[in-house]
Amino acid sequence: MSQPYELDVLNPATEEVIATVPGAVEQDVDAAVSRAARAQRAWAAAAPGDRARLLRRFAAVVDGHIEELARLEVREAGHTLGNARWEAGNVRDLLEYAAGGVERLSGRQIPVAGGLDVTLLEPLGVVGVIAPWNFPMPIAAWGTAPALAAGNAVLLKPAETTPLTALRLAELALEAGLPEHLFQVLPGRGDIAGESLVRNPGVAKIVFTGSTRVGKRIMALCADQTKRLTLELGGKSPNIVFADADLKAALDPFSFLDNSGQDCCARTRILVQESVYDEARDFLADALAGVVVGDPADEKTQMGPLISRQQLDRVRSYVPEDAPALRGSAPDGPGFWFPPTVLTGGRPDSAAAREEIFGPVAVLLPFTDEDDAVRLANDTPYGLSGSIWTRDVGRALRVSQAVRAGNLSVNSHSSVRYSTPFGGFKQSGLGRELGPDALTAFTETKNVFISTEGPAQ
Ligand code: NAP
Repeated sequence: MSQPYELDVLNPATEEVIATVPGAVEQDVDAAVSRAARAQRAWAAAAPGDRARLLRRFAAVVDGHIEELARLEVREAGHTLGNARWEAGNVRDLLEYAAGGVERLSGRQIPVAGGLDVTLLEPLGVVGVIAPWNFPMPIAAWGTAPALAAGNAVLLKPAETTPLTALRLAELALEAGLPEHLFQVLPGRGDIAGESLVRNPGVAKIVFTGSTRVGKRIMALCADQTKRLTLELGGKSPNIVFADADLKAALDPFSFLDNSGQDCCARTRILVQESVYDEARDFLADALAGVVVGDPADEKTQMGPLISRQQLDRVRSYVPEDAPALRGSAPDGPGFWFPPTVLTGGRPDSAAAREEIFGPVAVLLPFTDEDDAVRLANDTPYGLSGSIWTRDVGRALRVSQAVRAGNLSVNSHSSVRYSTPFGGFKQSGLGRELGPDALTAFTETKNVFISTEGPAQ
């Protein structure tokens, strides 16, 4: 039985406490699961058209609060205003996309002898979504929107550093007319609120996004109940730049600096063909010097602070003062600031080149030819994203097929769209989210055979 506790929410740009939120303990989680189970039964029994209409209304209410949600995200997560507006809009888009699936979620009719065979896609029941702090709103909605659309109830456990936008989204859901208790938010510590959710036998599936370390623990806990599980974990993604590429586009520093590098898809291993290595280094040196780092609420700011003191210490530990590196600038004073940095002269087997730093730090490494590039790209336990830059279409296809990662882009740094599947190979995850099959991941397939032979006399 856990003791009551509170979470202090800090503004990472100023270190000021902006809110204090009660943390959920095991009893709170258990009570929420019981309420959610009751709400889910009524929700699953409602007409699909009505469920779709309510989700569209939820999307419309979110749309009416984009600026408010974005400003909240800037304050609690230090995201730049432009990014935060995009993130709030992404929640709206995810809800609309999922609403469109409610009336299209259908099973199959399979030819068999002696009768009719159909598959039913039934909701799982209560789904637990455990979200990280790096994209609090979109990642909460990646799981929540399709789970609700498929007829489930959702309990969302946001990261303890960023509970405020999640709590506001739950209020907006009620304002939109979603049934009470269908979507509940449980702010709290991972080891208390998070684990209680994972252990509760009334929760049918866990959707976890976070570190590979915690993901492995959750996987072990789920095994005990053969609980359904999706894992979206860490990454150390390559940016493979061949000599014939458009170097300026390929070396866009925001491929690893977006969200201050706190992005699971950040292209933090910049692999450059050796004949253009010097040119690439000089280009990056200029690019880093031009990045505007500062107050995330200022429209001109391109990069804000890191989320916490702990994260700042972690990032610093990978960049010794005397390490050969290209460096941009960052503000002094309060706030968790770290300058844009590219480590040069590093080795592919160094900690900085192999481990997920989760800050504005990339490593620049040369490769000789296509085989060497693929070998380096795959030399990691992760397999989330990656970019391939070349004007040779055949090479782009060969390398796309050879790189073991779930989300690749050719001549682009994009990776996540609500309408295309997303997830990791190897230790970057298990299962897929988003895309046309997102709702199916929140159903159980039941096969029903109906005999046409008539009852036995
Ligand atoms: P984290 O420490 O693993 O935490 C993620 C979530 O899990 C938080 O809500 C956390 O709560 C909770 N948690 C911690 N311990 C738990 C436990 N024992 N049982 C249940 N829940 C627990 O990750 P993070 O530092 O917030 O996020 C950064 C990581 O997420 C990076 O590795 C990044 O690559 C990954 N990520 C992956 C994707 C993807 O789609 N593949 C997307 C974004 C981020 P607390 O806040 O209380 O610790």
